[in-house]
Amino acid sequence: MQQRNGNDEMCRTVFIASIVVYVLSIIFRSSLLYWLAFVGIIYSLFRMFSRNVAARQKENQQFLQFFSLQKKRFDMRKEYRIFTCKGCGQHIRVPRKKGKVEVTCPICGRKAIHRT
Ligand SMILES: [Zn+2]
Repeated sequence: MQQRNGNDEMCRTVFIASIVVYVLSIIFRSSLLYWLAFVGIIYSLFRMFSRNVAARQKENQQFLQFFSLQKKRFDMRKEYRIFTCKGCGQHIRVPRKKGKVEVTCPICGRKAIHRT
């Protein structure tokens, strides 16, 4: 495995997800799921044996950043409610358990009353 990317978090995640999809393809007798699992396994092997280590490390970094952002958003939902402004689509974060509040959009200034 010299000068190869080797096993990283993205490889492991794609491989495990592919195995799960493969098992599901057996359960549901779905050829689509079978091919999806096949492509996933080939992709994780490609990543593992790739010689372009810099590109694979960059992809792995983006993969880890995406999941840490999703985890952060998920954790934030315990303490905040997130509303979408009907005027401009901006996401507005408001602390939970404050009763009815009037929320003013910081972008377009539109006001709306929400229960938190
Ligand atoms: Zn707005």
